[in-house]
Amino acid sequence: MMIEVWEAKKIINEEAKLLNRNEKYEKIHILDSLNKVLSEDIYSFDNLPPFDKSAMDGYAIRSGDTQNKENIILKIKSLVKAGDFCEESIKENEAYKIMTGAMIPSGSDAVIQIESVKTENGDLYISQEVKKGNNIIKLGEEILKGDVPLKKGTLIRPPEIGLLASLGYEFITVYKAPTVGIVITGDELIDIKSEIENGKIRNSNEYSLKALIKNSNSEVYSVGIVKDNRKALKEKILLAFEKSDIVITSGGASVGDYDFVKDIIHEIEADIKFTCVAIKPGKPTSFAVYKGKLFFALPGNPSALINSFEEFVKPAIKSMMGITEKESEEFPVVLKDTFKTKEGREKYIFVNIRKEDGVYYAYNSGSQCSNHLRAMCNSNGVLIIPKKSANVSVGEVLNGKFIFK
Ligand code: AMP
Ligand code: MG
Repeated sequence: MMIEVWEAKKIINEEAKLLNRNEKYEKIHILDSLNKVLSEDIYSFDNLPPFDKSAMDGYAIRSGDTQNKENIILKIKSLVKAGDFCEESIKENEAYKIMTGAMIPSGSDAVIQIESVKTENGDLYISQEVKKGNNIIKLGEEILKGDVPLKKGTLIRPPEIGLLASLGYEFITVYKAPTVGIVITGDELIDIKSEIENGKIRNSNEYSLKALIKNSNSEVYSVGIVKDNRKALKEKILLAFEKSDIVITSGGASVGDYDFVKDIIHEIEADIKFTCVAIKPGKPTSFAVYKGKLFFALPGNPSALINSFEEFVKPAIKSMMGITEKESEEFPVVLKDTFKTKEGREKYIFVNIRKEDGVYYAYNSGSQCSNHLRAMCNSNGVLIIPKKSANVSVGEVLNGKFIFK
């Protein structure tokens, strides 16, 4: 039975959440944590900044010395540069030259920037009143000792890595990325280094799958090409299950005489959730659970395989890595071309989305045949034509999104 795209996504999401992997977390160096998700709260053992510091190159002064005065002349004592500790306290009508990032001398409560003053013979001439706290970044202003600046569930991006470093964390605990096992089937497949022979094509899916998995920040385990042979295929699928958290097969998933993947998932008594989705491209996509691991049978047609991965496998990987999508990636797109399709499935049309005067427009990028990759290579986005619609024309508005983000 063919199920709806939203239904398929819901089932996958529920199973991915339930999955109980043995080593769900891992402690890693912060530099290896980009795009992973924190599985612990991060406490601060320090105040940030750890001292009152100057935000500018200028002079540290006592603001009181500049108030209600006509001529403000202060005595310049010495220079405090970043990294220095000034042993002395500032006294009445004194100033210390100070550099950005340097610790404010005790007793000083303001910094006046270098561009706003004049100096002569060791004296500092100020022509305006300076407010208390001016150009001072206060101790603990950003983070106080005991704060939790990064919570469990935070996606780690470059600024999070910087913050972790400033807090003195070299290693952190994150949700471990799943290992994705891939099994490529098809008697027609030859290695990419081989010359084309009669009836044979190069095995491109293994490479796009590896790239898709890498793009999802996960590990890959490939058993390589397996012939369309029931016994050999079963052995390799079981091997992939042994080594991975998710198993993907490419090809052999439909109803042809040599499409054995569905028979094998029945034979190993996997819990089959669905075997056909109302999506184009990607209809012969199956999903099952086997010994607490996820199984996706993806179609062999190269762009169908990629579309199914992006729509069904990637969300499962994200969920296992602790990444929760807060908002839909879809937005309204106005058609610049006409697209002819059929009713009955949700159609994913690969297009070029361009923003013009604040409006997103979709341009045709070539043949949408699920056996071709060229249109996808010419596209930066996808347009989603609802199941019940068929032909759509210039000026109509549909939902779209950018791809491979
Ligand atoms: P299948 O899903 O096995 O019926 O294959 C559907 C189409 O995808 C056929 O035209 C295959 O030749 C092609 N195909 C299958 N596997 C691959 C692969 N690994 N690389 C490139 N094309 C493939
Ligand atoms: Mg095949």
